[in-house]
Amino acid sequence: MVRFTPEMLEHHLTKEHFSHRMGWLRAAVLGANDGIISVVSLLVGVIASGADKESILLVAVAALVAGALSMAAGEYVSVSSQADTEKADLEKERIMLEENWEVEHAELALIYRQRGVSDATAMQVAKELMAHDALGAHAKDELGLSEIHTARPMQAAFASAASFVSGAAIPVLLVVLLPMENLGLIIAACSLALLAVLGAIAAKTGGAPMLKGAMRMTTWGFLAMALTTYVGLMFDIH
Ligand SMILES: [Zn+2]
Repeated sequence: MVRFTPEMLEHHLTKEHFSHRMGWLRAAVLGANDGIISVVSLLVGVIASGADKESILLVAVAALVAGALSMAAGEYVSVSSQADTEKADLEKERIMLEENWEVEHAELALIYRQRGVSDATAMQVAKELMAHDALGAHAKDELGLSEIHTARPMQAAFASAASFVSGAAIPVLLVVLLPMENLGLIIAACSLALLAVLGAIAAKTGGAPMLKGAMRMTTWGFLAMALTTYVGLMFDIH
C-alpha cells in the first residue's frame, strides 16, 4: 500500500486539475479572440464595401472602443449581480444559523447523506464542520460557493476590456500600417492565423487537444468574416 504524505496530496491537487488551473489565462485568451473576431469581421465587411482608408480606420478605432466598453459593462453587470446574489444568500444563511442551529445541522447532514455517507458519519461531519466554520460549511456545501467574497466587479470589468483590446489592437494596427492593396485579405489571413494560435493555447491550458481548439476558433472567425464580407459586397459603395 502506498502512503501519501500531505505534501504529495497537495502537489497532486494543485497539479492535476486543469479546470482549476490558469483560469485567468483562458479568460484573457477568449477576450482577445472576441476582440479579433468582432473587429476583423467588421473591418473586412467595410473594406469589401469599397470604403476609403479614412473610413476604414474610423470603423477600426470605433469598433475597438465600443467592443472594450461593451465587454467591461457586460462583465461588471454580470459579476456585480452575482456578488449581490451571493451576499443575499449568505446573509439569509447567517440568520438561519443564528435562529435555528439544529435545523441547519440536520440540513447539512442530509446533504452528506445524499452524497453516500452513512447517517451517523453525516451527522458527525456536519457537527465538526459547523463547529469549525458554520457559515463556511453551509456556503460551500449547500449554496455551492467555493470562496466567500471573491467577486470584484471593477477588476473583472477592467480585465475583460483589456483582453478584448489586446486582440482588437492587432487589426487596428494592421490598418494603420498596411497599404490599401489587398488589405482585407491580409488582415483576414493574419487574424485567422492568430486565432489558430490562441485557440491552441486556450485548449492547452484547459488540457484539451490543441488542434481541435485551433480549428474551433478559426472556423468561427472564418464564418464571421465570410458573412460580413458578403454584407460589405452587397453595400458596394463605389
Ligand atoms: Zn444552511
